[in-house]
Amino acid sequence: MGTVPARFFLADNPAAVVLRAASASSPTTRDVVSAATGLSAATVNRAVAALLDAGLLRERADLTVPGAVGRPRIPFEVNQSRFVTVGIHIGASKTRILATDLRGQILGGAELVTPKSAQRVALETIAVSAAQFLRRFSRRTLVWAGVATGGRIEPTRGEVDHPRLGWQAAPVGAVLGQALNVPVTVAAHVEAMAAAELLFGSRPATRHVGTTSSTLYFYSRQTVGLALVVDGKVYSPSNGPLSIAHFPTGSGQPCECGRKGCLEVSASDASVLRRAVEAGLVTRSVDPSDIERLYRLSSNHSAHELLVNRAQLLAEALTILRDVFNPDHIILGGQTFTADPVAHQYLRAQGHALQSQFGTTVVMSRFGNRVQDFAATVTSLSAIRADPLAASRRW
Ligand SMILES: [Zn+2]
Repeated sequence: MGTVPARFFLADNPAAVVLRAASASSPTTRDVVSAATGLSAATVNRAVAALLDAGLLRERADLTVPGAVGRPRIPFEVNQSRFVTVGIHIGASKTRILATDLRGQILGGAELVTPKSAQRVALETIAVSAAQFLRRFSRRTLVWAGVATGGRIEPTRGEVDHPRLGWQAAPVGAVLGQALNVPVTVAAHVEAMAAAELLFGSRPATRHVGTTSSTLYFYSRQTVGLALVVDGKVYSPSNGPLSIAHFPTGSGQPCECGRKGCLEVSASDASVLRRAVEAGLVTRSVDPSDIERLYRLSSNHSAHELLVNRAQLLAEALTILRDVFNPDHIILGGQTFTADPVAHQYLRAQGHALQSQFGTTVVMSRFGNRVQDFAATVTSLSAIRADPLAASRRW
């Protein structure tokens, strides 16, 4: 079925605009969509007719207001029960599999430990798990698969270099496409997180044509990462995603790159947990999410100090990132910011300071502790959202 690159932008073709508006607020009417998007009534009519034909929208004659003057206006909504997409987030420690409808509503999920076997075997294991999970949704037609992961992506072949997993040109798109028999999109996960904020955002109905704004997305959990959104489009460098992993912080932590004090090795959950184990604060652990045990100890002086130290490094990094990129908005995403109470508090305070000094708004991700899930979900939907009619001709 082939691999299709991610399309992380606010498309302005009428079918895309109408589907986005209907996804944000369903059921709706042609008049409401026309008013919300600025598209003419005739353009909305044509787009709705084409989307109804493709089965992406459905009419709700039962909701027609009786007694309306003139031609009856039958409300419509996204056809949310006919199709399903599957989003897969392959993390350094865990892999999550999510089923979603065309609106981007998550219908269910499953989790497995990311296999540490050879890359093709690991991918086949993930593909088998996804196929098994999807049996729960056998009444729906599976139309697309999206994979979001760390490392560097070759988007047209769907291959992934992921040093943490030992993957080199791992054939993610090919293995999943063959197992699931649908088109596959593979994307860098921090870019996908930024895309989820953009495409599932608070102003999804507007076309954003001519708007100019920039948003920097700063991610931290097992890894740290960045993504940049400019004028309604996620920047995806062909040379690999933006990186802040080896940003110098002045900490003494030795990094595998040979230097000391790089941000990722100083601030990631895995490295903070390792230091907590070394300090005897928590027992030896193999699961990086055990960092949550450290959060519950934050009244303990040593535990608190460890977390304050990390929060300060991240707050300093945030300040420098604002200086370098000078974006209109900054979004902080990932469990370090949303689950660690100390980092949350420090970064919010630093965000307020930056906002009052420079006017840059700094907010936490709207997806809280589910940023990885929504990164996978938006990857499975991006080609459909960008050009719904072209995408539907593939199934
Ligand atoms: Zn380094």
